[in-house]
Amino acid sequence: MTNSSKSEVSSVFLRLLTYLVPLKGVLFLSVFGLVLYGLVDATFIYSIKPFIDQGFASNVPTTPGLVEGVDLGMGGGFNSDSDVLKTAPFVVIGLFTLRGLANFLSTYGISYISARMIMDMRQQVFEHYLKLPVSYIDAESSGNLISRVTFDTEQIARASGSALITIVRDGITVIGMLGVMFYNSWKLSLCILIVGPLIGLVIAVVSRKFRKVSKQIQTAMGGVTSVTEQMIKGHKNVLVFGGQQAESQRFAKVNDDNRSRTMKLALAQAISQPLVMVIGSLALAFVLYASSLESMRADLTAGTFATILAAMLAMLQPIKSLTRVNAEFQRGIAACSTIFAVLDTPAEVDNGTYEKQRVEGRLSFDKVNFRYDNQEGLALKEVDFTVNPGETLALVGRSGSGKSTIASLITRFYSDLDSGDIRLDDVSLRDYKLASLRRQVALVSQQVTLINDTIAANIAYAYPGEVTEAQIIDAAKLANAWEFISNLPEGIDTQVGENGVMLSGGQRQRIAIARAILRDAPILILDEATSALDTESEKAIQTGLDNLRQNRTSIVIAHRLSTVENADQILVVDQGKVVERGTHSELLAKQGIYYNLYQMQFGS
Ligand code: ADP
Repeated sequence: MTNSSKSEVSSVFLRLLTYLVPLKGVLFLSVFGLVLYGLVDATFIYSIKPFIDQGFASNVPTTPGLVEGVDLGMGGGFNSDSDVLKTAPFVVIGLFTLRGLANFLSTYGISYISARMIMDMRQQVFEHYLKLPVSYIDAESSGNLISRVTFDTEQIARASGSALITIVRDGITVIGMLGVMFYNSWKLSLCILIVGPLIGLVIAVVSRKFRKVSKQIQTAMGGVTSVTEQMIKGHKNVLVFGGQQAESQRFAKVNDDNRSRTMKLALAQAISQPLVMVIGSLALAFVLYASSLESMRADLTAGTFATILAAMLAMLQPIKSLTRVNAEFQRGIAACSTIFAVLDTPAEVDNGTYEKQRVEGRLSFDKVNFRYDNQEGLALKEVDFTVNPGETLALVGRSGSGKSTIASLITRFYSDLDSGDIRLDDVSLRDYKLASLRRQVALVSQQVTLINDTIAANIAYAYPGEVTEAQIIDAAKLANAWEFISNLPEGIDTQVGENGVMLSGGQRQRIAIARAILRDAPILILDEATSALDTESEKAIQTGLDNLRQNRTSIVIAHRLSTVENADQILVVDQGKVVERGTHSELLAKQGIYYNLYQMQFGS
């Protein structure tokens, strides 16, 4: 292990401990249970000697001190053989009841702690996602983002739970057994010390491997999630284009990748455990050999020998667990460092202080140059325009020309302009508090995102505060959605299904318009998606949109030129630049790009 990774492990670990602070009461009880468990086991082994030496072999001279050492609530020493053997059953029952209680306390307590930790971490990661800049989400695969919340958190909790159990309980057991051994015959017990460092070495070497492979497994798991997610999202497309084989091959690849990495971990684990066992047997063999020596035998009673042997055997299982826990622990640390990296990703920059309840809606771009982080060239070049309150500005142009980018900058999804400035009511967007800025904007986009709830809940989604049924119905009417909603058996209480699968494209769009109407923001961004709809739905939506645009500053990304004829300004965007501007009739008269686009869509 290199120094840096060592210090990384300990800092990750220390940070993990902070999650336990609020749970310290339960933690204390659990640890108490674990310690008790280990001690009971050691006590049990310790009581073997008096059972044997006094219960059976009463001819062996006893050292009074040793006998008094057995304080199992049985009073003083044993006076006769039968006394010892008669007490034995009670001791056994007593010890095992105690062990059972300790077991319950620790198992339940640790499950409680793990469940809390999973819940807290999930919540934290989820909430952090909500604060992260759009660029971060753009750059990450959604499979990875999801498996952070579902898989990685689980790994951490499982690892900390089993690590705690093993380290404390089995640690105490091993220490207790060692104590019993040395107390009985330190000479014989010394041989244990010979193998200790060997076992330590094996553990250290394997840890490194474990941690590395665990990280890889996490990534592979993200791949599995991500391919599955893509397939489910595009299920219809896959069926139509006969992509089943390609999809299943793609999945087979990530699936197999995940398997082979899991196997690497299993291999390391499978090798290390038997190795430790073999090393352990060396110690046992050494004890057996040593006790056959004349010089040793003088000190040994049958009871001492049996106790040492029993202690060594009783130690094997805990030692085995201690080596295995390492895999779990390393896996947890790996998952932890991924999670902490997410939590450490800076949230969206929100330095502005300017707040306004409701802006008038004067929006201006002042020679804006903008580049996406991961792109070479500028996505927007010298974009310059002003829209006055209540006016409509239409953006037209080929796909990929930069229209959506302009819209994304208005809501400050990307805040670093290369140069230039964007102002709302003559205040730079940078100076706004993000929440205050976004409160001014309603967005109706091509991909309507509906939540899996009722129509009413979907319309009220973005409304700040309590909303009445009458308000929802009014909004639905203005959005031209009331007609279809009122025909549904449960009206506005109809469930829309996941992302609105129960509704048609046009219906979804009108719900989104109703949502925007209810939100009543002074700025409206419309990414029109009417091109996929039949003429009737398009008309229905158009009426809704016209109602929505009333008295608002609207930025319309137009796919159909028919929808922008009465816009106050039309900008033709090409390769990030505004290449033409004017009203519909001005642009037609110019006979330039707009004119050509118009000719293409409507014929001459
Ligand atoms: P339009 O809305 O006109 O179709 P966009 O604004 O979506 O065009 O895209 C403009 C350019 O910016 C394109 O070249 C596109 O590849 C690029 N682009 C769009 N979104 C991103 C993004 N999130 N990250 C990097 N590049 C992007």
